[in-house]
Amino acid sequence: MKLDAEVLELFTQELTLCGVKPGETVVVLTADDEWAENANAFMAAAGRLGAHTFNLNVRRGQRNAVGVQGRHPLVGNEPAMRTLKSASMVIDMVGLLFSREQAEIQAAGVRILRVMEPFHVLKQMFPTEDLRRRVEYAKGLLEKARQLRFTSAAGTDIVYQLGQYPVMSEYGYTYEPGRWDHFPSGFSFTQGNDGGIDGVVVLQPGDILCAFKQYVQSPVTLCVEKGMVVDISGEGTDAQLIKSYIDSFHDPRAYAVSHIGWGLNEKARWYQFAVTRQLPVEHVMNALAFYGNVLFSLGPNLELGGTNDTACHLDLPMRRCNLWLDDVQILREGDVIHPEMRVEHRP
Ligand code: FE
Repeated sequence: MKLDAEVLELFTQELTLCGVKPGETVVVLTADDEWAENANAFMAAAGRLGAHTFNLNVRRGQRNAVGVQGRHPLVGNEPAMRTLKSASMVIDMVGLLFSREQAEIQAAGVRILRVMEPFHVLKQMFPTEDLRRRVEYAKGLLEKARQLRFTSAAGTDIVYQLGQYPVMSEYGYTYEPGRWDHFPSGFSFTQGNDGGIDGVVVLQPGDILCAFKQYVQSPVTLCVEKGMVVDISGEGTDAQLIKSYIDSFHDPRAYAVSHIGWGLNEKARWYQFAVTRQLPVEHVMNALAFYGNVLFSLGPNLELGGTNDTACHLDLPMRRCNLWLDDVQILREGDVIHPEMRVEHRP
């Protein structure tokens, strides 16, 4: 397979940020023929840094379709799990997020980097030390906060009680044993206390339905009581789309409010889908990480130590919101106003 010099160089920089050293073992995990070029280039980059490296390729099969969280080909595959747990680092191109298997690999001290975006997105959103600093600052604030509130001119006003769950950071690389990250990325997030989320969220045109890879076209009002969505309404088709999609999982826990945070990657673009027209391969990291979003979501909380492992996960990045942690304002109308996380010059 032909190796592109630009790809090799970028992936070598990425693995250098991840602290890959001679003698370490970097396993590239793929399914079927997905991401073969990226997998090949990551192995070449790992080899350049003196690491042992190989590709563990598994069959995805029908039940493990992309987009269904926490259901993947490692379930019940003990030899593959043993191999992954013996690595220094796993590059995950299968999508283990929200699975018990990912938690098990991390618990063995293996750092995991998820990479499931096309090269142009990896290049566009490439992480920096400054992004890490700002994302870790956000993590520190979330760890101390007891309440998060976000509002919007469209009528959103919702409060999360915090403190029960840990906070996770995603800045696009990982060098600590057992730590997971996602290349590319750029936000921190946590989960409201069990039963401790109440209010109203109003999705507006231009907000993003990541599961469908499309923009909201018509306002949708979600009423939340004690951490669960109890009503979804709206004049247009979006409210029906969201409700029908959630109902298709036949799981009442799909109505739970999931992780909450805000985007800090100034190189990510909310309008990415409109620019590239590459919906089938374009994943959603631009949407999840764009600077100044509120990343509202529904579904599982397994990743943060909760018990909800519903397979239905909706990430709903929102624009033009205001956000406070206790009485400290972080966002004003979709702009980061906190000086420690603000970027003055954006591309
Ligand atoms: Fe999510």
